Amino acid sequence: MAKESMIRRNNNSYDAVIVGAGANGLAAAVRLALEGFSTLVVERNSTVGGSARSEYLTLPGFLHDVCSAVHPLALASPFLESLGLQKYGLEFIQPELPVAHTIACGIAVAMHRSVAETAAALESDAISYRRLFEPLVTKLRSLTSEFLRPILHVPRDPWTWMRFSLAGLAPANYLAKRRFAGEPARALFAGLAAHGCVPLEAPGSAAFGLVLGMLGHGTGWPIPRGGTQAISNALAALLLSLGGKIETGIEVRRLEDLPQARVVLLDLTPHQFVQIAGERLPAHYRRRLQRFRYGPAVFKIDYALRDPIPWSSEICRRAGTVHLGGTLREVAAAERAVSDGRHPEQPFVLLVQPTVWDPTRAPSGCHVAWAYCHVPNGSSLDMTGRIEDQIERFAPGFRDCVLSRHMMQPADLEKHNPNLIGGSISGGANDIAQLIARPVLSLKPYRTAISGVYLCSSSTPPGPGVHGMCGLHAATTALQDVLLRHR
Ligand SMILES: Cc1cc2nc3c(=O)[nH]c(=O)nc-3n(C[C@H](O)[C@H](O)[C@H](O)COP(=O)(O)OP(=O)(O)OC[C@H]3O[C@@H](n4cnc5c(N)ncnc54)[C@H](O)[C@@H]3O)c2cc1C
Repeated sequence: MAKESMIRRNNNSYDAVIVGAGANGLAAAVRLALEGFSTLVVERNSTVGGSARSEYLTLPGFLHDVCSAVHPLALASPFLESLGLQKYGLEFIQPELPVAHTIACGIAVAMHRSVAETAAALESDAISYRRLFEPLVTKLRSLTSEFLRPILHVPRDPWTWMRFSLAGLAPANYLAKRRFAGEPARALFAGLAAHGCVPLEAPGSAAFGLVLGMLGHGTGWPIPRGGTQAISNALAALLLSLGGKIETGIEVRRLEDLPQARVVLLDLTPHQFVQIAGERLPAHYRRRLQRFRYGPAVFKIDYALRDPIPWSSEICRRAGTVHLGGTLREVAAAERAVSDGRHPEQPFVLLVQPTVWDPTRAPSGCHVAWAYCHVPNGSSLDMTGRIEDQIERFAPGFRDCVLSRHMMQPADLEKHNPNLIGGSISGGANDIAQLIARPVLSLKPYRTAISGVYLCSSSTPPGPGVHGMCGLHAATTALQDVLLRHR
């Protein structure tokens, strides 16, 4: 019998059914199970994790993070921290340097865990760098709890939140030029901000640089031992220990196919919700969801390497993540091209070298590397050559180290996980309008127009990243609306 019909004929009923076993779906299920409610998670793939999974993509023995790889947000997440996931096998490793940014062959700038040490190498910008990041790092806990929730909220520490928001509202290139005189500091900040997948001239783009810089200093940019899958496995193991159930290999096509439940939480993006809800969605709400925009995509390559990457700058060898971007101007031009629907000749490449720190992921002496660049949504251009030219620019001889490579275009990413619409990795465009109205303008954005049905994916606040906070907030809303009311 097909698994879809098995789930339809399943006569069990649950307090909560969650569709999608991504970090947010699992976090939502854990939150509800911790309150003693019966939960079932239904996942289309054969393994849990969604965009937090690891697989042998190239050669036997070489384990790759299929999507997410570096996890400052998981470490900063107050919800994940509260769960004690280390009891379920999760261990974070801190690379010596969170990030290195390449400026030219043999020249790179480092972000150290310490603000002072980072600033010291920025010479004339040392004081400005400390002035920018020290107050943020001092207020790390307070700020983290503010930005890991809907933007429209009453802040617990209004003064700190207002100062952060005012700085974050600026375009990243404006902030970088205004605060810093030298290229190293400007380029470093540009690389951090470019994670946001928005042009660096866009209002609000500075916020990504501030958050990632603050986390780099405050929590580090760690990698999980044994790959990102360890985060998902730990969440799943905790859920099972609480009595929750997980059914994999079941693609939900219609809400009616789900077993009876008092609440349904969807770890899906708005357009997928429109598809599976069908006529049950009122026309006005459906139109609002259909207006949701997905933003740029990525072209990703995973490498099996015979040797460590032969960086020309020693700084890059000591970093977990390396930004291959050149100057502020170069990074800004690459991100501008993508947002205009073009493919940059010299893309801004994000590269992670996990096996320098976690040798469990490759055969002895060998390595894996993870790299991607931004491309327009739905792009089908092969960016392999351009990505490798950028790596070679800063690590001459890199191609000679490659034993095997595995490429994923946007369509491949979407095949792997239907939430990655057109290859978009953020659950939706990250522009300022859509960070506020995510997925629609509402004080309770997790509620939908169908009573008892909630969205809990990264298309809801606080947005992308493996932090589980979208799941936590959606589950809390469902508890308040339904489950705790009629216990
Ligand atoms: C290439 C890439 C790199 C990234 N790098 C990082 C990083 O380094 N650090 C970081 O913090 N974040 C990173 N991110 C972002 C982060 O991975 C995501 O924001 C986060 O994992 C989203 O979690 P989620 O639970 O909202 O959704 P997802 O992880 O997308 O989970 C959704 C789940 O729903 C399932 N599903 C979809 N449709 C159905 C259906 N009809 N029926 C049943 N199941 C269904 C999917 O199979 C999937 O398992 C990256 C993302 C990508 C794609």
